[in-house]
Amino acid sequence: MKKTFAIVLALAAVLSIPGRAQDGAAALDAAATALGAANLRTLEFSGWGYDYVFGQGYHGAYQWPRFNVPGFTMSLDFATPAVRDDRRRAQLENPPLGGGFQPLFGEQRQIWVASGQYAWDVVGGNPVAPRIRDDRRGVTEGRLEQITLTPQGFIKAALANKATVKTDTIRGARKTLVSFTTPAARYEGTLNDQHLVERVQGWFGHVVLGDTTIEAAFSDYRDVSGLKFPAHIVQWEGGYPLLDINVTEVRPNAAVTIDVPASIRAAKPAPETGALERLADGVWLVPGYANSVAVEFRDHVAVIEAPETEAHSVAVIDAVKKTIPGKPIRYLINTHSHFDHIGGLRTYAAEGATIVTHRDNIPYFQQLWAGTRTIAPDRLARSGRTPVFEGVLGSRLMTDGSKTLVIYHYPGNMHNPTLLMVYLPREKILVEADSFSPPAGPLTSPPNAIPNLIHWYEAVQRLKLDVEQVVPIHGGLTTMDAARQIIERFSPNQTN
Ligand SMILES: [Zn+2]
Repeated sequence: MKKTFAIVLALAAVLSIPGRAQDGAAALDAAATALGAANLRTLEFSGWGYDYVFGQGYHGAYQWPRFNVPGFTMSLDFATPAVRDDRRRAQLENPPLGGGFQPLFGEQRQIWVASGQYAWDVVGGNPVAPRIRDDRRGVTEGRLEQITLTPQGFIKAALANKATVKTDTIRGARKTLVSFTTPAARYEGTLNDQHLVERVQGWFGHVVLGDTTIEAAFSDYRDVSGLKFPAHIVQWEGGYPLLDINVTEVRPNAAVTIDVPASIRAAKPAPETGALERLADGVWLVPGYANSVAVEFRDHVAVIEAPETEAHSVAVIDAVKKTIPGKPIRYLINTHSHFDHIGGLRTYAAEGATIVTHRDNIPYFQQLWAGTRTIAPDRLARSGRTPVFEGVLGSRLMTDGSKTLVIYHYPGNMHNPTLLMVYLPREKILVEADSFSPPAGPLTSPPNAIPNLIHWYEAVQRLKLDVEQVVPIHGGLTTMDAARQIIERFSPNQTN
């Protein structure tokens, strides 16, 4: 009797497992049916709204700067997978506080594409390898994630990745919670009692924020050509909004053709850094998509700027150690708090370098770095070191008699209130970030962000710095004269 009872219990336990799995599959099938996802090969939707530039807030207390998006079209090919994101963008913030090339003049067309393992931008009708490095998983992965951040794409990914499904009551409403892991990320989604996806959340390891999320919320679902699609989509990254779109048109199974251009297929990834270029005795440029500068003192080295990522910092540190052997990097001087300028900071802290930055950035960086780092632990997380900061107010002189540099804060710049520039008085070299990023060719229209260029130019004049060479973090070596010519040509009445 006892034995029979035990067998019945065991049998019930075995049977209950496929039963639960079937419930999960049924919930996903119901969602696929409700959303019209099953026979969907491509999807295109258009609308208008706002976008925000991640990591480019005016300072730590600000959200990412917001831009008008009068035209937005997202084209998705689920099987390849491929995505094309086409936006018209225009200035919105007034005053134009923060990064993202503000203030923008006129309307900007931005086209981002990814297909399979390739990513490219379309500029003036031509494909170009993405100029801006993604500061987390690579450009392609980040762009293809947009597929999973649509309701239909999320359900397709859930079905393909053996999602776990459970139900729960959240604030009195019955919800279905779907979670799965792809090679790229872990995702969770919430479905309502109509089997419609309300919210999707993906986790990733970010170089600045550590473990963080990208989220999408879908509301105001409407019937369109056999589909249900939200009329309102909002995305957040790192807790602040990233995209806010009102959908006006949905085209299921549209003719979405995203062919990888031959030039992109043939393109080789750019190296993290070029060879060190000697600017003066004991002063080197470390060229890259964003530059750093190494300054050699008697018994140590100071590096100006740790842009982009840990991989970039590792390449810069290796190059500096090879050219200047036997001297530790004691200081890393950071120009300001935008994420493309701090993505590589933690690598220097792991080396034992002191992070020198504007005093107001220290609590912000400590807060940014306080999160867990389980997804992509970096060198600092693995080292267990506590980062050491030194705050600059006004100015800070670094000298050992053989070498001298002066760090100046130039307050009041709308790009960022913590901007520091570094002047080498003997060498007459000035290192600056984002105030003057010289154009690659001749300008035919006013450059974006010209008020910030003027502000910086006037700050240099007020300090009476004798500058022969300007070393920008973004762009090639230049001069104050080149800056003055741009100001005189495009804004003649704004400077003396
Ligand atoms: Zn910036």
